[in-house]
Amino acid sequence: MPAKEDLDPNTVSKTRKPADGDRTGELQISLCRPQLDVPDGYIRLSGDLERDSIVNGPGLRAVLWTQGCRQHCPGCQNPETWTEDPTVGATVSVEKVKEELRKLKGQSGITFCGGEPMLQCKALLEIAKFCHEELGWNVWSFTGLVYERIPRDGIEWEFIKELDALIDGPFIQSQRDLTLKFRGSRNQRILHLKNGEIESVE
Ligand code: SF4
Repeated sequence: MPAKEDLDPNTVSKTRKPADGDRTGELQISLCRPQLDVPDGYIRLSGDLERDSIVNGPGLRAVLWTQGCRQHCPGCQNPETWTEDPTVGATVSVEKVKEELRKLKGQSGITFCGGEPMLQCKALLEIAKFCHEELGWNVWSFTGLVYERIPRDGIEWEFIKELDALIDGPFIQSQRDLTLKFRGSRNQRILHLKNGEIESVE
């Protein structure tokens, strides 16, 4: 089902229209459905939990690296995160992730990177709520999907509604720009969200 904004581009006049490299309709949906095959209460990670990052959002941040991405952008810096093979990466309980996050001091937020975070929305939603409610952190996520085409009828949208900011869109090599803050190509946007709706765009 297309998002409302697909039908009425005027409703996203604050943002750019979906640009080069955007997947339309079902193609985009196939980037997040079905969700990655991980047991309930677990998340598959592609790397160690990072702390004190200053390149994935404002302030000092924890970064959670997720496994699995179907976008396969030419020039991707993390192609080892693409596979959904369960033997690749570490499958960790959400409770264990929370335990590790609780130990971190001096962080102002967390950013979900990948891979494609939106392949594991259920686990990340729980972690995002924990970060908001127990740690008082802000929560950002990257996605290779384009915001306007994220399905609003399922767990993906529940996850989006929990975010403070989403950096959206695939990496497009021809639009690569090293001067951009927190992102790699000019088509990608920093969307500041409230209850899933765009409040401002960088
Ligand atoms: S969305 Fe990100 S992780 Fe996935 S292929 Fe593109 S650049 Fe790589």
